[in-house]
Amino acid sequence: MKQILIVGAGITGITLAERFASKGCKVLILEKRNHIGGNCYDFKNKEGILIHKYGPHIFHTNYKEVWDYLSKFTEWIPYEHKVLGYIDGKFVPIPFNLNTLYQLLPERAEKLEKKLIEKFGYGARVPILELMKVKDKELKFLANFIYKKVYFGYSKKQWGKSPEKMDPSVTGRVPVVISRDDRYFHDRYQGIPKEGYTKMFEKMLKNKNIEVKLNTDFQKVKGKIKYDLMFYTGPIDEFFNFKFGKLKYRYLKIKFKTLNKKDYQPSAVVNYPELKYKFTRITEFKKLTQQNHNKTTIGIEYPGEEGFIAWPFLDEKNKKTLKKYWNEAEKLKNQNIYFIGRLAEFKYYNMDEVVKKTLNLFSKIFNRKSFLQEILCQ
Ligand code: FAD
Ligand code: UDP
Repeated sequence: MKQILIVGAGITGITLAERFASKGCKVLILEKRNHIGGNCYDFKNKEGILIHKYGPHIFHTNYKEVWDYLSKFTEWIPYEHKVLGYIDGKFVPIPFNLNTLYQLLPERAEKLEKKLIEKFGYGARVPILELMKVKDKELKFLANFIYKKVYFGYSKKQWGKSPEKMDPSVTGRVPVVISRDDRYFHDRYQGIPKEGYTKMFEKMLKNKNIEVKLNTDFQKVKGKIKYDLMFYTGPIDEFFNFKFGKLKYRYLKIKFKTLNKKDYQPSAVVNYPELKYKFTRITEFKKLTQQNHNKTTIGIEYPGEEGFIAWPFLDEKNKKTLKKYWNEAEKLKNQNIYFIGRLAEFKYYNMDEVVKKTLNLFSKIFNRKSFLQEILCQ
């Protein structure tokens, strides 16, 4: 039987492996880290507290197909993410919404609320860079206030740039919300895998047709590995030996601390937009996973140029470079090499989006009348 090679054991690579192996195909996954799961990896630290090694991961989606698919491998802890921002000495809801308005600008809130609803309608979700375009003097004051208090400092720390220097989709992920809904995500399905992401992935990989080789960097073995079909989920620029230059990523360092107390902060994640704090946010993992433990572990995030690759840096320059790489990647489809996932596509994907893309790609390839179906799989 011929071989499918998957580079990277993140949620993209694992979903591909599960799908093809379930149809009888033989799959080899190469992963350069010493564990599966990519950036969704979680594990119990020495105190026995389940932590997300690469930052807080909350599963949320409007795709029923994706929810149903993953639900075959895990039960879920029902969890709706609510983030607080520590602003002007108060813990206030993020995204900025009408509750935040009343907490930070109590004297002016009623009038501003009325104006916001008149202009955008109750329930609207308005990206800050859109809100900044309003003409009305009072709404303009509010837009500048929110920009300064919520977005400016956070984005400076996160990207090293102010919000308008980044692609508008970046701050558009966390719009100003004209309602009293304090949830961070408004998707229909939300949760945390009951026994963790890694356990869910282990179940997905439990198939005799799948072999996983950890601590194996594709770059170092690529001449030696034979395959008939390859899916590459690593950084696209690295695959092509950076021939069009390096794409810019943002890296993350997380300082973990285990504290001798049951409880640390009022919500699972607290954002710190003010520049006087060097970090962007603190996660208290027990509040995500609902684990009972008399100690608690927190993760303090320092984005920058060091740590692990965490985010694609979305600006015009990188988008142009990406285009060149993507043209090359498209040509390799003829040789049965596909690029997919957050690093390979250089896209700011959430977990559900990569699973959706992966399921679609799988169906497209598997259902097409070709050697894949007839020869690769039994
Ligand atoms: P990755 O998880 O990056 O996996 C790629 C794998 O390929 C890695 O394991 C890597 O080691 C391996 N690899 C790379 N190069 C090579 C090579 N040369 N050889 C072998 N292996 C290689 N999404 C959500 O939906 N909800 C959230 O709450 C959320 N929070 C996040 C918080 C943070 C801090 C970050 C950084 C991301 C968050 N995400 C969240 C996004 C989520 O992590 C991604 O959507 C998801 O991990 C993408 O999966 P992937 O498999 O494409 O990439
Ligand atoms: N953002 C911000 N202040 C916040 C939260 C988010 O300025 O309190 C901006 C910031 O630019 C950030 C982007 O919105 O990079 C996307 O935030 P999100 O929480 O989606 O980031 P992620 O979870 O991917 O780290």
